[in-house]
Amino acid sequence: MFNIVIFGKPGSGKGTQADFLKNKYDLYHISTGDLFRKNISNKTKLGLEAKSYLDKGDLVPDSVTIKMLENEVLSNKDVNGYIFDGFPRTLNQAESLDSFLVSINLKINATIALDVNENELISRLLDRGKINNRSDDQDIEKIKNRFNEYNTKTSILIDFYQKQDKFFSVDGKGTVDDITSRLFDLVDSLI
Ligand code: ADP
Repeated sequence: MFNIVIFGKPGSGKGTQADFLKNKYDLYHISTGDLFRKNISNKTKLGLEAKSYLDKGDLVPDSVTIKMLENEVLSNKDVNGYIFDGFPRTLNQAESLDSFLVSINLKINATIALDVNENELISRLLDRGKINNRSDDQDIEKIKNRFNEYNTKTSILIDFYQKQDKFFSVDGKGTVDDITSRLFDLVDSLI
C-alpha cells in the first residue's frame, strides 16, 4: 500500500495531477470536494448540510468532513493505496486521519504539495470558472476566502507532516505534463 496526500492551495492542480497519479500507481482517488459536489447535486442530507459552506468558499465543519472521508475509505478497501485530494485541510482532520489509518493498519506514506503563487492561482481559478459551473470559482471574493481558509487553517499541516518526515513540495508551475513528470520522479524515488 502506498498512500499519498496531494496538498496545495485551491487551483494548484491537485485534482488534475491526482488523476495521473491514480492511473500510474493504481491508487484509489478520494477528493472531498468532488464528494461534496456529488452529494449537493444528488440533494442528499450531507449535500444540504455542506452546500452553504461550499457556496461561500468556507471549509465544511470537521465533524461532517471526517465522517464522510472515513466512510469513503471503508467502502473501498480492496485497493493498492489511496490518494487523498483536498483532505486533510485542518489539524484536526490530519490528526483524525492518522489515527483512523492506524486503526485499519495503514498510514500516510507521503504528502506532496503543489507549489504555485496566489496571483497565478487566481487567474487559473477564474479561467476554470468560465468552463465549469462552480460558483466558488467565479467570484474573486470567494476565491480570496478560500486562500484565507488555506492560510489560516491548512498551511500549518506543512509543519505537521514535516515533523513526520513526510512532506515534499513540487513546483506546480509549468505545463501539466511537466508537473506530472516531476511528481512521477518524486513518487518513484519514494516507493
Ligand atoms: P479547491 O481545492 O479548488 O478549493 P475542492 O474541490 O478541493 O477545490 O474544495 C471545494 C470546497 O469543498 C472547499 O472550498 C470546501 O468548502 C469544501 N471542502 C473540500 N474538502 C474539504 C475539507 N477537507 N474540509 C472542509 N471542507 C472541504
